Amino acid sequence: ERSDGTDGQVSGATVVAQALKTQNVEYMFGIVGIPVTEIAVAAQQLGIRYVGMRNEQAACYAASAVGYLTGRPGVCLVVSGPGLVHALGGMANANMNCWPLIVIGGSSERSQETMGAFQEFPQAVRSSIYGRPGACYVDIPADFVNLQVNVNSVKYTECCMPPPVSMAETSAVYKAASVLRNAKQPLLIIGKGAAYAHAEEGIRKLVERCQLPFLPTPMGKGVIPDNHPNCVAAARSRALQFADVIVLFGARLNWILHFGLPPRYQPDVKFIQVDICAEELGNNVRPAVTLLGDINAVTKQELASQKSLPMNYYTVFYHVQEQLPKDCIVVSEGANTMDIGRTVLQNYLPRHRLDAGTFGTMGVGLGFAIAAALVAKDRNPGQRVICVEGDSAFGFSGMEVETICRYNLPIVLLVVNNNGIYQGFDTATWKDILKFGDATAVAPPMCLLPNSHYEQVITAFGGKGYFVQTPKELQESLRQSLADTTKPSLINIMIEPQAMRKAQDFHWLTRSNM
Ligand code: ADP
Ligand code: MG
Repeated sequence: ERSDGTDGQVSGATVVAQALKTQNVEYMFGIVGIPVTEIAVAAQQLGIRYVGMRNEQAACYAASAVGYLTGRPGVCLVVSGPGLVHALGGMANANMNCWPLIVIGGSSERSQETMGAFQEFPQAVRSSIYGRPGACYVDIPADFVNLQVNVNSVKYTECCMPPPVSMAETSAVYKAASVLRNAKQPLLIIGKGAAYAHAEEGIRKLVERCQLPFLPTPMGKGVIPDNHPNCVAAARSRALQFADVIVLFGARLNWILHFGLPPRYQPDVKFIQVDICAEELGNNVRPAVTLLGDINAVTKQELASQKSLPMNYYTVFYHVQEQLPKDCIVVSEGANTMDIGRTVLQNYLPRHRLDAGTFGTMGVGLGFAIAAALVAKDRNPGQRVICVEGDSAFGFSGMEVETICRYNLPIVLLVVNNNGIYQGFDTATWKDILKFGDATAVAPPMCLLPNSHYEQVITAFGGKGYFVQTPKELQESLRQSLADTTKPSLINIMIEPQAMRKAQDFHWLTRSNM
């Protein structure tokens, strides 16, 4: 007798196997015996890879790991009684790990009225991968396995779709951005939920754009490479202990993370929790912000929300670094502009960076840039010179822009403008201050005129000027400036007037406001 359907008859085992195949199940681990042997044989015939193991526990561990690695549940096939009991360890482990898994157990014969149980398959797949992933158990009565039914009477449910992607509430996204922005010592904790969610690209962007230190949990390792400069794994205890804001990306505050409690953490540390499981939010601690949703989607929401905030030094340099040619000469001066720029803008070659130097002189930048552009023109045609100036530093020799234009040197000047020396004020605050008296009496000495259009200095001489306030405008104007090798340009980049680097006691947690 054949059970492959060629004679119109199909066995229960084949129906089970075909149902799994229809659900894109690729791997089955197990130990065969009565009544499940036929299921393994049928699965193999249909192209599902079957791995016979020596104990159901290991089989179940293997099947759950397949679920974690592929996002579709692996199947663990066991016999009833002891087989299932042995598999329980693996099921519990999968559940605790939030990994999708389907365990199929053969049980003793039952009457045919319960044939509806076949319909459990799609539901099993769905509940293993939707919401918080986990283990599912499907019980197959022995008489189903060998029962012959007409092939046309079997209807397979369509392959279960990947889980719908849920996003966090918009107000929570903004609140999280604000809490993170005001952090002095923020920390991202990257868990295996982030790995499972394939959130690596977004999280890396967030880390680099905001220069956030991060700590992977044991299985969160590799979401961003361990050798990334912002990885603080080597100082794990310190990082946990001194952080004032912690973002949890798919990591639970369980024993692995010391429950999120003192003395391993600051008593007033603010947690921002990102998880797909609502029940997890607020577990052990009272989070400052909860973001219920898929980590990958929520990360993208966070990145998008930042675009509507004023830029700070890190955002600016992140976007500049992305476009700079590796062999360009970087000239830089300013206080924060030069300091923070040095940490983010990379140099790959010797003698390709000129800055305020030993004497800490402001006003050297444009002269240096003119020299570099001349030497580049003679010795290295096509090489670009980028001059990164603070707004105050630019003021010391800004009129050399006329010189640059007179000799038509295609220097790209960036003025990182925070309306002041070290920091300044926005236009509204500046006006408020002036209400109290004459500017010489009341204006903080650090302030420069807010909203100054330094780009107009270059347009006065025929160069190209850009006034930019958003990352997008910055990207676009820099792209155009670098593409144009015939003309100098000046990009006046408005940043948050109070954006500053904050004093930190150990360097790998150092960063400014985002
Ligand atoms: P670790 O051991 O790395 O700290 P945990 O297992 O404690 O990680 O936490 C993983 C968390 O990730 C779980 O709370 C789980 O609900 C969550 N999770 C799993 N998949 C996603 C997803 N796609 N989006 C958001 N959270 C997820
Ligand atoms: Mg300034």
